[in-house]
Amino acid sequence: MTFEYTPYILPLIAAELVIVSVAFYSWRHRSTNGALALSLMSISIFIWVFGNIFEITGVELETKYFWGVFKYIGVAFTPYGWLIFSITYSDRAKILTRRFLILTAVIPTITVLLALTTKWNRLIWSEYHLDQQGDYFSIGVSYGFWFWVHFAYSYLLLLSGAVLLIRVLWRRQGMYRWQVVAMLIAVLAPWIGNILYFTGNTPFPFLDFTPFTFTITVTAVAWAIFGFRLVDITPIARDHVVDSMREGMIVLDERGYILDINSAAARMIDVPIASVIGKTAEVVFRPWSHVVERFRDVMEAKDQITVREGEEERSYEVRLSPLKSAEGQFMGRVIMLRAMDEEALQQERDLLERRVQQELAERLHTQVLLRESEERFRQIVENANDFIYRTDVNGNFTYVNPSTLKIMGFASEQELLGRHYLELAAPEYRHKLKRVYEHQFLRKTKSTYYEFPAVTADQEIVWLGQNVQLILDDGQAVGFQAVGRDITELKQAQEALALSRDQALGASRFKSQLLSRVSHELRTPLGGILGYAELLQYNAFGSLTEKQHSIVDNIIESTNYLTVIVNDLLDESQIESRSLSLHNEYFNPAELLEKIRNTMSMLANKKGLAFHTEIAPDLPAELYGDMNRLQQILINLVGNSIKFTKTGEVRINLKRPAPALWSMEVRDTGVGIPVSDQQNIFEPFRQVSNSITRENRGSGLGLAITKQLVELMGGKIKVESSAEAGSLFTITLPITNAPGE
Ligand code: ADP
Repeated sequence: MTFEYTPYILPLIAAELVIVSVAFYSWRHRSTNGALALSLMSISIFIWVFGNIFEITGVELETKYFWGVFKYIGVAFTPYGWLIFSITYSDRAKILTRRFLILTAVIPTITVLLALTTKWNRLIWSEYHLDQQGDYFSIGVSYGFWFWVHFAYSYLLLLSGAVLLIRVLWRRQGMYRWQVVAMLIAVLAPWIGNILYFTGNTPFPFLDFTPFTFTITVTAVAWAIFGFRLVDITPIARDHVVDSMREGMIVLDERGYILDINSAAARMIDVPIASVIGKTAEVVFRPWSHVVERFRDVMEAKDQITVREGEEERSYEVRLSPLKSAEGQFMGRVIMLRAMDEEALQQERDLLERRVQQELAERLHTQVLLRESEERFRQIVENANDFIYRTDVNGNFTYVNPSTLKIMGFASEQELLGRHYLELAAPEYRHKLKRVYEHQFLRKTKSTYYEFPAVTADQEIVWLGQNVQLILDDGQAVGFQAVGRDITELKQAQEALALSRDQALGASRFKSQLLSRVSHELRTPLGGILGYAELLQYNAFGSLTEKQHSIVDNIIESTNYLTVIVNDLLDESQIESRSLSLHNEYFNPAELLEKIRNTMSMLANKKGLAFHTEIAPDLPAELYGDMNRLQQILINLVGNSIKFTKTGEVRINLKRPAPALWSMEVRDTGVGIPVSDQQNIFEPFRQVSNSITRENRGSGLGLAITKQLVELMGGKIKVESSAEAGSLFTITLPITNAPGE
């Protein structure tokens, strides 16, 4: 085989490159609808062009013959591939049964077999020879019988594929426009090419134009399928979904022209799909003119329509919704139609009826509940012992409960409704009352309580205590409501109580005054008695017998005791009437202690008790206070200690327990005080019952006066003791300066 280069093969090689790319690309994307068929078709075309290239460049007749028949493998199967592609792309793959594929492949297979052996059977080429065109030789052939069979068959497949595709494309709108254009080019290219070839209108009459046109076809198809990656599946999916829907779908443009309609809708209106696209809804829906009228300018609706079809009446559910562009511009409307058969209609009716009945029952139930709850509250309000009333924003009664009427002595609510609440208040309280509620209104105080006297219909005074709440509507006060009760008895009781308290206080004051006057008056004659008794004792009125001496001693002792009691009573009454005042000054605590020592140590020693005093070194040399009263306190405590101690010692310590405090401790080893009595001993006239208290005289006022004096000084007194274990009394006082220092 010898080959010779000729520039005619350049376009063929270019076509071959395109086809190889398409074949490869569609093979890789063979899951896309139609891609596998496209890939097979590309391979056929590739073989066809491949044979063509070698046929052209072959020098000898036999070489040209060999490649000339070889290319029939491609020639015979290209239309076959086209048909399969068209079927798949138009989503009718279910007709591609094994049987269908084998049957349709019979003629192409025979064509290939006959072509490869045409030298002997002469059914494809009956004769072939070298043809000279200038200095270029081509193979000239006369076609045999089978060639025409193949020819006719090929065009039949080509035509069928074209029809299938055009039908799909016809219904495709808008967004698929470029796919439509590409597919139209794909469909038309082989036809135009062939027409040109057979009519001899080509620049190269000896060059078969068909492979080129198929290259265009394959490229255009590839563009259509893969050029728009996002939509390559959509048209098919759309057809599949929309056409298999049971609901009818009609798309109208903004002028009411039908852009798209699916099979279900076409069936419902009973029109062929192809004949309605591009027509107005009025024309197409002529039998349904009342429906068209009803929805003419409606953008959005959900409704039921009934149309007459011959004898029959059919019902449809209609849904209308507007179609808008991404910019929100109105582009048309979508109409969805759902046929309602008798059963569905009945179901719908039942559902509606049931819903109404449910709703009715619910409303009834709510009303009953509401009425019940109203009744409950009415019962509570009307039977309440409390008065309950409402006023409008001005304060005029809008509601009064029976208790209000009863308390205020009115017979019917008509006598009160519309009247102002202030009219019922006691005149001297009206001004105050008005201020209280104006304040509540302005401040928006939720609730207030106020007591005031009111005047009943019989001109009697009743005291009322009422809780008043603002009635708010949307944050605005629209009135008041009050709940309250007749507190006249309570008020009277309170007044009586206050009166008796005042009386008791007065009596107590009188007692204290009496006590202090009496004790004060007693002290002068007591002084006289003591003076004369002492003169007797010193034999100022002549010498006394032994017996007389002992009597005078008794008189002196009793008078002394009486003086102590009178003094105590005076102190107590003064403290109680708060007329006792302290005389504070700077004093030396060591001096205080010395004075006590002088008066008390003899008494202790007489009983055989040790007597100790001690001052802590950190105690200030000067303290501010009432030294006489402090002395009185210490004498009381030390006197008790000596009195209640039989053996042992009595000890006084002055200390500074904290920087701002000083203390006086009186400790003894005496009988002690049971814990249960420790609180009582500070109350007036309280004594612990024991042999000593029984044997000794005592007023029971000493500790009471001590405690009150200590407290008057701003200090505290405490006792630590237990029976038979001695006692410790501690008085703690603040360290203070004279006022103004
Ligand atoms: P009285 O005049 O009886 O002493 P006080 O008020 O001074 O009255 O004391 C009340 C009582 O507290 C005393 O009667 C005594 O029972 C008890 N008491 C006070 N100090 C002591 C103490 N140091 N030891 C034991 N008992 C005491």
